[in-house]
Amino acid sequence: MKKHCCEDMAYHVNFECEIHENPFECPDKIIFFDNRKNDYGLIIHDGGTSCIIIDYCPWCGSKL
Ligand SMILES: [Zn+2]
Ligand SMILES: [Zn+2]
Repeated sequence: MKKHCCEDMAYHVNFECEIHENPFECPDKIIFFDNRKNDYGLIIHDGGTSCIIIDYCPWCGSKL
């Protein structure tokens, strides 16, 4: 069984920026994955550490 619903999601979850150590500071990093709770979040780049937990994949539409 695949860990993530689709290649797009896997790409964004595993995306690591070379410039920004903190994912919340990187404008290219848009998905935050919480391994512990198995939650996916959409990072809001407002200078803080906000993210919206999403229930469906924005790319393939699968329930997460
Ligand atoms: Zn997906
Ligand atoms: Zn970056």
